Amino acid sequence: MAVAQNIGCSHCGAPVEFKAGEIIATCKYCGFTTVIETGKAFNFEHSVLPNNYSLEQMENLVRDWMRSGFMKPADLAKKSKITEKNLTYLPFWIVSVEASTKYKGIFERIAPPIVKEGEIKKEYNWLVLARQASDFPTRAYDVPLAGKVPYDFRKIEGFAKLLNSEMERDQVLTVARQQIDAHHRFLLQQDIDRIIEASTTITLNQMVYLHAPVWFIKYEYKGNIYQIILDGAKGMTLRGDIPNRKF
Ligand SMILES: [Zn+2]
Repeated sequence: MAVAQNIGCSHCGAPVEFKAGEIIATCKYCGFTTVIETGKAFNFEHSVLPNNYSLEQMENLVRDWMRSGFMKPADLAKKSKITEKNLTYLPFWIVSVEASTKYKGIFERIAPPIVKEGEIKKEYNWLVLARQASDFPTRAYDVPLAGKVPYDFRKIEGFAKLLNSEMERDQVLTVARQQIDAHHRFLLQQDIDRIIEASTTITLNQMVYLHAPVWFIKYEYKGNIYQIILDGAKGMTLRGDIPNRKF
């Protein structure tokens, strides 16, 4: 277990708690965000997506999810017991970039094979979760960015958890670069079968630090525990475990 330490908030003086590995910490009393190592203010845009669901509304949403879709047991909504409802504001970085991958490769779907060259050029608001250990389905999360507002600690519910960033800006940029390059290498398989060379150039437009509300719901069905992950801004299901149907 990581032991919590604290530094004094340079804005309001309250203790700001952080755990080993965390790099950027937000004061829960005033919302001031500090870079732990230097003790200096974090000087990038820090936003929050407000959560739009109460505990009760979230429960209704989960029941609706349980009733929908033919993959689920017919009695799922009736026989399940919701055992945990945790709202966590996860730290993300949104990396706005223009990315271009120039490539050369062999197209083998005709005989004889030919050498092809091409370019994939795209713009992204690429999402990076700023936590090291996590099985969160980041790529399934289409963050409703239109709803973001400047970070305001008063929007964080008393029962919610706020996680700090474990990555600093340069690290995030490296991760985004690697992920976009891998994504483009996947896309270019539509055009070529074997890569001779491919290189990705990234032009960074903006980086924003964002806390987004994510609900982690656990439910019990016939003696087993399952998890559902939902976005708290729009109520989208990001991932839901479905019990196997027995025939
Ligand atoms: Zn403070």
